[in-house]
Amino acid sequence: MEEHDILVHACCGPCSTASIERMLEEGWNPVLYFSNSNIFPEQEADKRYEALLEVARVYNLKVIREHYDHQGWLDAVKGHEGEREGGSRCELCFAYNLREASEKAKQLGFLHFTTTLTVSRFKNSKTIFRVGEAFPGFEALDFKKKGGFEKSVALSKELGIYRQHYCGCEFSRL
Ligand code: SF4
Repeated sequence: MEEHDILVHACCGPCSTASIERMLEEGWNPVLYFSNSNIFPEQEADKRYEALLEVARVYNLKVIREHYDHQGWLDAVKGHEGEREGGSRCELCFAYNLREASEKAKQLGFLHFTTTLTVSRFKNSKTIFRVGEAFPGFEALDFKKKGGFEKSVALSKELGIYRQHYCGCEFSRL
């Protein structure tokens, strides 16, 4: 791996658009990693993956898809199902996905990894960084900055890709 290669946990196509543009501007070589066992049902995960593939084609990037293990994710958030969005269930969810990304980065020899989760204005970047920094190689890139969220909305409209209406898990659909 080269110094600027980075494995990017990509939560969905829309959030990836602005994140990719920012990383390319900053000289990173992103490889996208779709590991989102939190998404329910599985057909919804497939739809988001398809949208990510469309984005990857536009920027000519590689996508790696991880095995979907929703039961494993449910076990990880057990006891926190009824928490409000943004609370302890979400921290455990970030930890689950970032651990997967960290392990994949290590396995493939990446020196760096990050996540597109910080684009969302509904997610606290500081919390994501606190969780991510527990894993070696995590890059704390705040993709909300520099109008990242607004840019992701505009770019995903322009590309005509699927944009979901809930965060991901069954508890965020209630
Ligand atoms: S609301 Fe979103 S971040 Fe929170 S646990 Fe559900 S999928 Fe994960």
